[in-house]
Amino acid sequence: MYRSTNPMTGLVEAEFPLLTADEIAQAAQRSAQAYVQWQAVPRAERADAVLRIAAIFESRRDEFAKLITAEMGKPISQARGEIALVASICRYYGGNAETLLADEVLDPASGDSAVVRTSAIGPVLGVMPWNFPFYQVARFAIPNLLLGNTILLKHASNCPQSALAFERVVHGAGVPADAYINLLASSKDIDALVASPHVQGVSLTGSEKAGASVASQAGKHLKKVVLELGGSDPLLVLDSGILEHSVKAAVLGRFANAGQACISAKRLIVLDEAYEDFSTSFAQAVSNISFGDPTDPATFMGPLYSASAKDEILEVVDDALAQGAELLVGTASARTDDAFLEPMVLVGVTEQMRAFHEEIFGPVAVLLRARDADHAVELANSSVYGLGATVFSSDTAQANAVADRLEAGMVVINGMAGSQADLPFGGTKRSGFGRELGSAGIAEFSNKKLIRTP
Ligand code: NDP
Repeated sequence: MYRSTNPMTGLVEAEFPLLTADEIAQAAQRSAQAYVQWQAVPRAERADAVLRIAAIFESRRDEFAKLITAEMGKPISQARGEIALVASICRYYGGNAETLLADEVLDPASGDSAVVRTSAIGPVLGVMPWNFPFYQVARFAIPNLLLGNTILLKHASNCPQSALAFERVVHGAGVPADAYINLLASSKDIDALVASPHVQGVSLTGSEKAGASVASQAGKHLKKVVLELGGSDPLLVLDSGILEHSVKAAVLGRFANAGQACISAKRLIVLDEAYEDFSTSFAQAVSNISFGDPTDPATFMGPLYSASAKDEILEVVDDALAQGAELLVGTASARTDDAFLEPMVLVGVTEQMRAFHEEIFGPVAVLLRARDADHAVELANSSVYGLGATVFSSDTAQANAVADRLEAGMVVINGMAGSQADLPFGGTKRSGFGRELGSAGIAEFSNKKLIRTP
């Protein structure tokens, strides 16, 4: 069953039955049939359809934002930002189709005339999570639709209304029904879909467990995979020269979307010389976070996506507290049965604690103290993940040198980590492989076909 449960009220707002295995197999077949026509549609027409998708998201932003808030608890102001980001992804791909898909002219030593043409490959499957229910879908589906691939989309089982709304927008913009098919499918039926001869590739955003499962099935059937998995991104503060800026980035980075973001700044690594100033200002700023009703535009932090998510996070916090860590902000004892979890800052975290190693997918910052820049880099890299990182320093040459040494797919210097339509997004190590967005994102599920004339 796909079920929308409002995390603020705990009430079930909508339920949808699962598709049968036969219905899923038929959808894959329809997607393959639609591919024949869709890839033959002139590129400019596909780009126009993508731009029409952008226009729908722009004109109905508040309606979709409300759906996000009701379905997974994101504060309404951030939900509006998510829809604006979706529209910007559509504008970027629709507006740059000719450049992104232009032939690459080569100059081989043989003197042959040679070009590399980027062409579509067929139906591709996206398996997406609930934490950004529209954005995650857009960054996979939009470049692939523009390229000429057709889309089979399996969304998280707690976000059916967002999944169906996205599908209606795409169809409303004139994309043929079978070129984009939302599947209310059980994750148990995904292996068969990956194995289907119709499916040419699969992209998954979610947990390591789901990623490993899908990737192993894809490997068995020789299908291309893109994985965007977890992260435990470090935010390094190398001096107190730009304290205010770094505190703001740490608060936004760790507590936006109640900390349920892969590129959330989960570990704050602060050099000795800046530690006292940073921790005082940061604790103050976290204590001032407006926490509560996600439908109120003034709220910065709402509930988690579900009450059960809270238990998993508190297990990690309790493990740290039992071994001597302390809460600089937050109270471990103030617990409720709902999905609300107040913002917390853990200090005194050591390597023995789960909080040091595990991704905390919620509003808990881990504040670590480093002796010097080398130690900060060592702490930052002491993670199995390698998604993003942020470096704050008033010495930009030093920040660049540190950025070079960080094991991450993306590093931001003196700014906010985030996603932009025209910049590549993705990680290394156990955070996954492949890239989304930018020119790299449209290349992942393409055939880079060489055409050579001797
Ligand atoms: P899950 O991996 O449980 O779910 C993500 C999607 O995968 C859902 O659609 C889910 O379906 C599906 N799924 C789960 N298991 C399988 C399986 N064995 N085979 C096929 N599909 C499967 O993750 P969460 O939704 O709990 O998201 C949180 C995790 O995702 C965190 O670790 C987070 O860091 C990571 N994440 C990474 C992001 C990135 O960009 N790198 C962005 C967002 C989250 P169903 O709901 O039906 O179980």
